Amino acid sequence: MRKKIIAGNWKMNMNLPESISLISQIKNYNGAKTFKCDVILCPPFTSLDTARTLIKGSVFQLGAQNMHAAESGAFTGEISASMLKSVGCEYVILGHSERRTLFNETDNIINKKVLSALSSNLKPIFCVGETLEERKKGITFDIVKRQMAEGLKEVDLYGIKNIIIAYEPVWAIGTGKTATPAQAEEVHAFIRSLLKESFGQDISERIIIQYGGSVKPDNAKEILHQPNVDGALVGGACIKAESFLEIIKAC
Ligand code: PEP
Repeated sequence: MRKKIIAGNWKMNMNLPESISLISQIKNYNGAKTFKCDVILCPPFTSLDTARTLIKGSVFQLGAQNMHAAESGAFTGEISASMLKSVGCEYVILGHSERRTLFNETDNIINKKVLSALSSNLKPIFCVGETLEERKKGITFDIVKRQMAEGLKEVDLYGIKNIIIAYEPVWAIGTGKTATPAQAEEVHAFIRSLLKESFGQDISERIIIQYGGSVKPDNAKEILHQPNVDGALVGGACIKAESFLEIIKAC
């Protein structure tokens, strides 16, 4: 049985005082110790160090939303994997559709980031997913297959065990439109078959495949109970303690 993992992608929301308030509300929830799933918080860079201190000794883990592939150097405004490690991050979101479309990140750039994160012992939450146009054309599987093959190029058997895959149909991100449980399950099962082809059955069955795209308290349970859906990457609903906690409880 795979233990489900819920991750909250705060995106570019929450300044430091707001972050402190949100983490305190989530952390002080009475039932936090009895959560059946693991929970990762991904606040903005500016809140990571404080978040690390606030979640110490709790069930929560820390992730970042992006990083640069290089270890250090003349990359003004960028952050490296080892910098993220130094403020307590265990995870980093890579290949998010907003990075792909708004910041022109190609499969190749994302692949370099994945390899760099792994070499710094940072676990990528690696996002894939098709646009609405691609879905309408019937090429969802082709797109996901390409993103998986290119983004995970040169990832070895050890590396893949440290990666979470997040299937995030672009048309469902921040739109209020969710994939139906059947649509999500279909792509998740396909992703697991790709993992089986590349890494073998044993490993493919251990890898966490999260769903992301307008997950809310009222749809979480149905989606999270699909056999190949092992958790959720939550955007909008994670920056309110109440809705994020409801999604966690749906596990
Ligand atoms: C996301 O940004 O990864 C995401 C899934 O956002 P939302 O939940 O708002 O659709």
